[in-house]
Amino acid sequence: IPTSLNAIVRSSIEMAKMPIEQKHMTLKVTDDEEVIVLGDANRLIQVAVNLIVNAVTYSLDYKTVHINVTKHNDYGVMEVIDEGIGIQKAEIPRVFERFYRVDRARSRNSGGTGLGLAIVKHLVEAHHGKIIVKSQEGEGTTIRILIPLAKEQ
Ligand code: ATP
Ligand code: MG
Repeated sequence: IPTSLNAIVRSSIEMAKMPIEQKHMTLKVTDDEEVIVLGDANRLIQVAVNLIVNAVTYSLDYKTVHINVTKHNDYGVMEVIDEGIGIQKAEIPRVFERFYRVDRARSRNSGGTGLGLAIVKHLVEAHHGKIIVKSQEGEGTTIRILIPLAKEQ
């Protein structure tokens, strides 16, 4: 089903409003072109909300999260970029495991289950998409999701 990635980002920010406001975060969306992907809007919102809440949770208060929506080849691209605590190189492949949380001491107060990214990966793969993580400890994390574009746009 053709679905607007721009609309998915807007809905997801609305749904993540509480944690965003509680931490006084600034969200900056760059989505100059309309990007229509093939997918289930509610599930893609679930993906985006998880990434936005993670970006907020694993950043200090008053930081900025950037969300970019673009096209690349046959894919719609959504990037969620934070200036948070980052993920150690060795831990990056493990964050998609169910119940895996990096360094309990750090994550303890956030009350998560460690299921978010496992669900994200499952949903992205169900859409024949791709997920790419880049992270630098102490500097921040970028998560890029690619979802096949709808034809004829
Ligand atoms: P929940 O199930 O509530 O989402 P969670 O956030 O702990 O709990 P995941 O979203 O699966 O679980 O993330 C797994 C782990 O990866 C987190 O506990 C955290 O250590 C790390 N992580 C995820 N996103 C980020 C991020 N943007 N910056 C730094 N670390 C992150
Ligand atoms: Mg999470």
